Amino acid sequence: MKVIVVSGGVLSGLGKGITSSSIGRVLKARGFKVTAMKIDPYLNFDAGTLNPFEHGEVFVLDDGGEADLDLGNYERFLDVNLTSDHVVTTGKVYGSVIEKERNGNFLGKTVQIIPHITNEIKSMISNVAIKTGADVTIVELGGTVGDIESMPFLEAMRQMRSEMGHDNFLFVHITLVPTLGTLQEQKTKPTQHSVKELRSVGIQPDVIVARCERPLDEGAKKKIALFCDVPLQAVISAPDAKSIYQVPIFLEEQGLTDYLLTKMNMKSKPDGLADWKKFLNKVMNPKHEVKILLVGKYMDQRDSYMSHYEAFTHAGAELDTRAKFLRMEAEDIEKENCRGLLEEADGILIPGGFGSRGTEGKVEAIKYARENKVPFLGVCLGFQLANVEFARNVLGMGDANSTEFDPHTAHPVVDLLPEQKNVTKKGATMRLGAQQILVEKGSVAWQLYRESEIMERHRHRYEINPHYIDMIQEKGLKFTGKSADGKRMEIAELQGHPFFVGSQFHPEFKSRPGRPAPLHYGLVRAALEFSQKRKK
Ligand code: GLN
Repeated sequence: MKVIVVSGGVLSGLGKGITSSSIGRVLKARGFKVTAMKIDPYLNFDAGTLNPFEHGEVFVLDDGGEADLDLGNYERFLDVNLTSDHVVTTGKVYGSVIEKERNGNFLGKTVQIIPHITNEIKSMISNVAIKTGADVTIVELGGTVGDIESMPFLEAMRQMRSEMGHDNFLFVHITLVPTLGTLQEQKTKPTQHSVKELRSVGIQPDVIVARCERPLDEGAKKKIALFCDVPLQAVISAPDAKSIYQVPIFLEEQGLTDYLLTKMNMKSKPDGLADWKKFLNKVMNPKHEVKILLVGKYMDQRDSYMSHYEAFTHAGAELDTRAKFLRMEAEDIEKENCRGLLEEADGILIPGGFGSRGTEGKVEAIKYARENKVPFLGVCLGFQLANVEFARNVLGMGDANSTEFDPHTAHPVVDLLPEQKNVTKKGATMRLGAQQILVEKGSVAWQLYRESEIMERHRHRYEINPHYIDMIQEKGLKFTGKSADGKRMEIAELQGHPFFVGSQFHPEFKSRPGRPAPLHYGLVRAALEFSQKRKK
């Protein structure tokens, strides 16, 4: 069992998640079983109750875990399915220790951060390593070294390293090397300070990954090696990348994989990144381009819809097509320039969401897609609103709505799931995680999935009101995917439209390089046809 801890210094937002995922990917390419986990030093039990503005999207796991979006990066880079155990938060650690204390597990003892909290952290990490049987477990430590919140975690890591031995437990520290002044000199002082901070808690990093605008020059590298006491080959430069999928290649080319394997006394096999490079080549050199308009709520925060962006990248790669994103704040739809965006789009995506802000704008965009035969994909809230729009404008139920937004509507086309009616607590209480869906043979979805039983991930409280199903279907919006018991409507397809599909589930979470989410693939393909027709 080997563990690599990835910490961050200087400031947040250095792309620690991508670097951690990439380290995992290059090790996997040498034939090792790799898993990854994230430590988030906040008190929330999980990411389910966090605001996408601050933290980006909530990533949903097969087991229904609502996780930090980095879990999505791990799944996509390592091609594994993770569980809730792969996320450790301060809330979870303390929750578990306090529960044990109440159960009397520590009778007579004073319960303290050291050793009780640190032991809990260590056991959460080793449990994942043992359960998954991974050769290497990557542990990404959220936050920045020096934060009060991360102290118990760093102490737990320090202990773990001395218990497991230095060849079984490595530290990779990611920092920033800014360029300053007219000379564009690369400044290493912040890195030196950050490593000093790490050393002050007893941790000497084995590898330093420096985020920088352009590759580190030799002088900067030497300085970091000297001042931070790491060999020159353990200073890795991580320049800004055009695509996140380039990062494993950067690391491999600088010899990081060999360095790590030698340090851990692991026998190295030849690099197996050929498939990755093929995929990357398709991402970097597309033949076509389509414009996908995303109508959402947190449009200045790119991370809010990260899994969608990645799913479109995966889908585009298979079609030699770059999916270029147009972004629209749903609330702004009435503004002049937004009409222009609708007209420019080759495909429209309405993603998931909560709360009424922006819903009317989304309904408008759906109407535009339906009437003008623009390829459309609606996910979760997008699927629900496609039904609302259809009821209003095709069935003539003017005030049709979801009871989430109008509890008193005369036509509650979307309503609370029956099992949600008595739920009052907000944490982890939605219909969550992987659920089976039966797909109707011959439907658009079936042609894309090529299967009639699929598993997809969910995160919702509302559903299509069973009372309206027949009325909606009669007018041509057909439910071609249903839950295994036939009760929940899961996929809707509009007849006589080139591509108008909605799903109650979130296909974006299972998209992988080389295996794009089928519905995203369908949208990009339809958008490509749409744009080519338009050009003629
Ligand atoms: N707010 C809707 C619901 O709870 C949609 C959720 C979503 O889009 N993830 O059902």
